[in-house]
Amino acid sequence: MKQYVMAIDQGTTSSRCVLYNKKGAMVSMAQKEFTQIYPQPGWVEHNAEEIWETQLFVCREALAKIGAFWDDIAAIGITNQRETTIVWDKTTGKPVYNAIVWQCRRTAEFCNEIGTEEVRNMIREKTGLILDPYFSGTKIHWILDHVEGARERAENGELLFGTIETWLIWNLTGGRVHVTDHSNAARTMLFNIHTLQWDEDLLQLLDIPACMLPQPVENSAVYGETEDAMFGGPVPIAGAAGDQQAALFGQLCFEEQEGKMTYGTGGFMLLNTGDRVITSENGLLSTVGWTLQGKTSYAMEGSIFVEGAVIQWLRDELGILKSAGESEELAASVEDNAGVYLVPAFTGLGAPHWDPFARGTICGLTRGTKRAHIVRAALESMAYQTVDLSAAMKEDLGHPLKTFKVDGGACANDFLMQFQADMLDTAVVRPAVVETTSLGAAYLAGLAVGYWDSLDEIKANEQFDRVFQPQMEEQKRRKMIEDWHEAVRRSGGWIRE
Ligand code: ADP
Repeated sequence: MKQYVMAIDQGTTSSRCVLYNKKGAMVSMAQKEFTQIYPQPGWVEHNAEEIWETQLFVCREALAKIGAFWDDIAAIGITNQRETTIVWDKTTGKPVYNAIVWQCRRTAEFCNEIGTEEVRNMIREKTGLILDPYFSGTKIHWILDHVEGARERAENGELLFGTIETWLIWNLTGGRVHVTDHSNAARTMLFNIHTLQWDEDLLQLLDIPACMLPQPVENSAVYGETEDAMFGGPVPIAGAAGDQQAALFGQLCFEEQEGKMTYGTGGFMLLNTGDRVITSENGLLSTVGWTLQGKTSYAMEGSIFVEGAVIQWLRDELGILKSAGESEELAASVEDNAGVYLVPAFTGLGAPHWDPFARGTICGLTRGTKRAHIVRAALESMAYQTVDLSAAMKEDLGHPLKTFKVDGGACANDFLMQFQADMLDTAVVRPAVVETTSLGAAYLAGLAVGYWDSLDEIKANEQFDRVFQPQMEEQKRRKMIEDWHEAVRRSGGWIRE
């Protein structure tokens, strides 16, 4: 009996590998950071070969740490930073350019050039996304346009494109398997999420030859086996999903209306919408959650640019916190926010406000405002922004969310979680394993090879750390949300040419 499932978690700043056992408990973990490349303002790149090397290194290290071998591993599941784009030579395996990272804004002007209303609507309808440099499509276009000879070589079938999971699978299998899972494909802006196929019109719009694209596959299926040189013997690669979708799966949000919120540097809310693609009227994206045993579950997604990062700002720029953890004790040391509201619109506001010209604002300062009030206002802003996302989802759905599960670094903060429950007027559920991203990838892979037999068997592993029940009276809650919206209004449109 194989003992573990290996989860490969390839993130924006580090490559990680986690080994899980049948109970869904972490038994080994290894992590390595890699270089961030900023060639000019607004541009972000990674070295694709360094990504592969650090990833292989941590996989071997996670095995070595507990004396495990390739034949202890039932399957490998992959989760990854989404949208990041790699183009490489099919024969040599050499990337023709650095990986262009999701954060990179280099194609903003090109998006404006092609962004007629007709094009924007087409993209929205087919892909569930908005036309934006964030997604892979315009990044591929940029590489083909700017690397000498690339377009011709791509048209001759000499080059391959992949997002990170595609690149890792291709390398793990020694160049034998060129696939992308449906959740990652859904972030390329080239993939029709209704038909689950690459879209001819979009390929034509961005002038991308179909022959360089990977084959779209389900999220839980055996794609191939690792080359013996990787771990000493063949291990099936049996699942993949983008990081946010993997977290939704790892939180066991298998049913329609189940959702999760991640409190990391930024914030991401995803909601399972079942077999329906819901087109948001409130600035949210539609995407594939996963395809499992022939059935696709869609999701609605909202993102907040600055979530835990506001606490980093208090610590690193203002210097009023020693550690992120200290924010909890300080916030609880004062009775209330004393009328202080902080809107962390450092880079504008994302969903559902979408105001690129908003900037950070602190309202309601008085002579008696203490450091603790500002820290408390910062934590509260993380919850209010989540309330705004949840309200947008509720409006699109026509009813409130069924469950509210949390993960990410800042969900360790009990003050924040209680305040979140109060502001949402919904119970907030914190799982025992908050490493939900890698756990989701492990579950997808383990299901494909029968390591876990069913979703029910996985559900039996679920353990909660704590459930936060709402306690605030309605009138007070409404007043605070009203004041928050007034503060948001005042932060809006600050940048004027
Ligand atoms: P990411 O995966 O986006 O790098 P993490 O999930 O590791 O982020 O979360 C880190 C973020 O959470 C940081 O922005 C940090 O400021 C914030 N954070 C960590 N611990 C706490 C805490 N106890 N209270 C509030 N914020 C926290």
